[in-house]
Amino acid sequence: VIAESVRPTVIIGNWKMHKTIAESAAFVTSLAFVVRHSSTQVGLAVPYTMITAAADAARGALIAIGAQNVFDAEEGPYTGEISCRMLKDAGASFVIIGHSERRHLFHEDNAWINRKVKRALNDGLRVVLCIGETLEQHQTGKTHAVLHEQLTECLKDVGERQIESLIIAYEPVWAIGTNQTATPEIAQASHHFIRNEIAKKWGKPASERLIIQYGGSVKPENAAALLNEPDIDGLLVGGASLVLDAFVKIIQCHKIKTQSAT
Ligand code: PEP
Repeated sequence: VIAESVRPTVIIGNWKMHKTIAESAAFVTSLAFVVRHSSTQVGLAVPYTMITAAADAARGALIAIGAQNVFDAEEGPYTGEISCRMLKDAGASFVIIGHSERRHLFHEDNAWINRKVKRALNDGLRVVLCIGETLEQHQTGKTHAVLHEQLTECLKDVGERQIESLIIAYEPVWAIGTNQTATPEIAQASHHFIRNEIAKKWGKPASERLIIQYGGSVKPENAAALLNEPDIDGLLVGGASLVLDAFVKIIQCHKIKTQSAT
């Protein structure tokens, strides 16, 4: 209820390595029609090849198009990499950084993620920073220690003004793509911890404005209960964002939240 009045709800789909240019344009066109009266902020992080087509289809609609990764240099001899300038030029307004698949499959560590975060914020992209503990860390009670370390290292030297362009996605690794959604209580506890950590470093007003999304096997069936938690301001949705009907149902959960709050 408190979150409702202070922070908008932000739902972002992460398509990972799925779909074609034509499919992305058709999806965004349909989605734009459905969300035209929604107060929920909606974004899609699409593969690089689809950014322009998706951004064109989203023009005039309240859908932000973003990327799933970026390199930390401005430009140069980095074969196969992509810069913030290129992403913005293609039509992206935000970028996901530090997704667990990047951390585990492509060996991105907190220091590298920190360089990417600073580069993207400096270059005018909104950043969705993903953090979260593994199953082993979860089971051995290390969640808060891991979140503290990730926040400290990934946000090193990020200024108070830049925090305004940041979204944090709490994505417990054990919940991503596993159908093992965190319970609303477990997610809320982590979100509350994250907000307190941000308050300690950047002050309470900044922490109160910060959007913290939950990610990990979000489905139409569990989205409303998650969004009803006071510190869960939005959702980062993988698999379910590939299916228009499921993604729309998740976006519409916001309405349930609004109704239950009044
Ligand atoms: C994700 O990739 O960020 C994610 C949360 O995936 P899924 O919803 O499929 O678990």
